[in-house]
Amino acid sequence: MRLRLATEPASPARPNEDFAGVTSNAVVVVDGAGTPAGLESGCSHGVAWYAHTLGSTLLAAVTQNTGPLAEILSQAIRTVASLHDFTCDLSHAGSPSATVAMLRRTEDAVEWLVLADSVVVLDTGPAQPIVICDDRVERIGARYRARMDDLRSGSPEHTEAFRRYVETLREHRNREGGFWVAAADPLAAEHALTGSVPVDRLRAAALLSDGASRLVDLFGLATWRQVLDLLDGSGPEELIRRTREAERGDPDGSRWPRGKAYDDATAVFWSFS
Ligand SMILES: [Zn+2]
Repeated sequence: MRLRLATEPASPARPNEDFAGVTSNAVVVVDGAGTPAGLESGCSHGVAWYAHTLGSTLLAAVTQNTGPLAEILSQAIRTVASLHDFTCDLSHAGSPSATVAMLRRTEDAVEWLVLADSVVVLDTGPAQPIVICDDRVERIGARYRARMDDLRSGSPEHTEAFRRYVETLREHRNREGGFWVAAADPLAAEHALTGSVPVDRLRAAALLSDGASRLVDLFGLATWRQVLDLLDGSGPEELIRRTREAERGDPDGSRWPRGKAYDDATAVFWSFS
């Protein structure tokens, strides 16, 4: 068994709002949803604190607790909320939130959980990889992003349109018919995608924050199979390097319109062979 991990902030000047952690039987990736300048969150701790606290709580819990992953996530959301509900306004629409991707190996299976737009890719052999991605954020976002996508990343107009976009999305967060993320409400965990695959069918698995999956699902510069091969051969650092190269080649988003020109990127590769 081999585990490799890389994580990098969008810019060295900013905290990494992604979290990645591994034990001998579990992987946890958490991607905190950034709060654009000018938007309130009701929390004095910030998104990086939320993502890292949720991630480390999950990693400890998933290592000790054999219960269902969704239940572990629900308890972790509750635990983190209890760490700041007496100082922060957790009913605020913009209170810190995060996507979650988890894998746990049991005796004969590998279980997965995905909440919001992090991606789990399962390599089960010569067939097409199994890609688990919760596309509810993207489907809701598609209704509102046209104006932002028409503007050049880095311009004041784009920054303002991105702020409005994030503000609008907040109205759909953790609501029926909207999308679900880890924030203050433990019920969100019930909406996570979960499943398992027999361990003897699995060659490898990858967990990617959307800052790393964008090489495939936003830029279209690689297939999932190519990403698995890249992770296996050259490692997660190389996936992030190629992603940065693509971002640098399109700094104003004219080829690939996007909210963030650069994003925190995290990739974990777990090989079972
Ligand atoms: Zn707080």
